[in-house]
Amino acid sequence: MEEKKTSPKAEKLFAVKGMNDILPPDSGRWEALEDQVRRLMRRYAYENVRTPIVEPTALFVRGLGQVTDIVEKEMYSFVDRLNGEALTLRPENTAGVVRAAVEHALLYNGPKRLFYIGPMFRHERPQRGRYRQFHQIGAEALGFSGGEVDAELILMAHALWKELGLTDVALQINSLGQPDERKMHRDALVAHFDQHHNVLDEEAKRRLHLNPLRLLDSKNPAMQTVIEAAPRLIDFLGAASKAHLATVTAILDANGVAYTINPRLVRGMDYYNLTVFEFVTTQLGAQGTICAGGRYDYLMEQVGGKPTPAVGWAMGVERVLDILKSQGSAQSLPLPDAYAIVPDAQALPAAMVCLQALREAGASVLMHASTPDGLASIKSQFKRADSSGARYALVFGADEMALGEVTVKPLREPDAPQVRRPLGQAAQWAHSLQSPA
Ligand code: ATP
Ligand code: MG
Repeated sequence: MEEKKTSPKAEKLFAVKGMNDILPPDSGRWEALEDQVRRLMRRYAYENVRTPIVEPTALFVRGLGQVTDIVEKEMYSFVDRLNGEALTLRPENTAGVVRAAVEHALLYNGPKRLFYIGPMFRHERPQRGRYRQFHQIGAEALGFSGGEVDAELILMAHALWKELGLTDVALQINSLGQPDERKMHRDALVAHFDQHHNVLDEEAKRRLHLNPLRLLDSKNPAMQTVIEAAPRLIDFLGAASKAHLATVTAILDANGVAYTINPRLVRGMDYYNLTVFEFVTTQLGAQGTICAGGRYDYLMEQVGGKPTPAVGWAMGVERVLDILKSQGSAQSLPLPDAYAIVPDAQALPAAMVCLQALREAGASVLMHASTPDGLASIKSQFKRADSSGARYALVFGADEMALGEVTVKPLREPDAPQVRRPLGQAAQWAHSLQSPA
């Protein structure tokens, strides 16, 4: 036997570890969720914002805080080879939105409600619900100081869980107070942890005098008892901070939204004050937080703007979709209305005029097209039509084309008759292909 001559194959390339390709049919679930979120945001009158994926590193160091997990160990930072700028792939989008708002004087005419959808980057250990490129949907209300906007944001997220059919989502709230209250609490924290210095791990020892609040966020099991016994920030709150929290909870109560006050809840970024919250599910193991946020009244100043109160949240898209999938929710985009079967290439010009008119009229049509093996047999075209999920096959055969017609064959109802339709009047019958919305 003669040996087959093949050119050497180029070596395969793979996606970066912890960064996922989102492919059909999963990508359909992504789009469906995004569509749903866009409709939700419109109903709450939040406007879309899109900021660059790359920002100056200083934005995150200043905005999120030097002594945080993200800035200390999770950022994809690099020096631009061409001009030496220190840049970072955004690990979150709040700092970027605030930077953009300051840069473009976005609040010149009053406060703004904004939302974003997009990829974020953190160099973490990849595992279920934790990736190096992941996606967040976030909402930010800039320029509002009252607790009612904190509540509005929480109600909006809560409404989304309800619409998605997510059960088992618990809301936890805490107040991180104001800088003066944090200062008193900080001193008490340092004193407490100093007394238990022997149980602290190396990271905790290092952070104790730099950012003791971070110790409360530690996941080290050996430190949990001493963390449990630590002074609680909530006990250091003054009247105004307590009143702010009460405004939020009164609105949640009135709306029948259940929550627990968790005095141990601190967030991973330094920019938070007053209200912080998390929506947690038991369905994802350790990665149970699907949405988190809070107030960040001092961030705007931190990045060079005027003092401006603000509040927001971000949800992890992968985690929400993971739950929806394991709940078996039928979340996906609709299938095509019709599959166009083209037995002979000669039919293509006239057939494609008809298809353009159908699509213009709103029908979704998938057309059979040739591959390196040619235009398949009618039989295998019908097989394709069947597996496409389309409800109808449109047959552009020579017989019907000669009469200026196309055959419309129902694929999902065995008893329904097939009909002929005029090629030239597609706009008139396009609606008969479409499923009722
Ligand atoms: P965690 O404690 O799970 O690390 P976090 O406090 O770092 O979360 P935030 O920065 O508040 O998370 O981000 C908001 C949401 O984004 C999280 O609740 C989560 O749903 C999602 N998220 C954060 N990091 C990741 C990641 N690496 N992969 C996937 N989703 C993530
Ligand atoms: Mg994290």
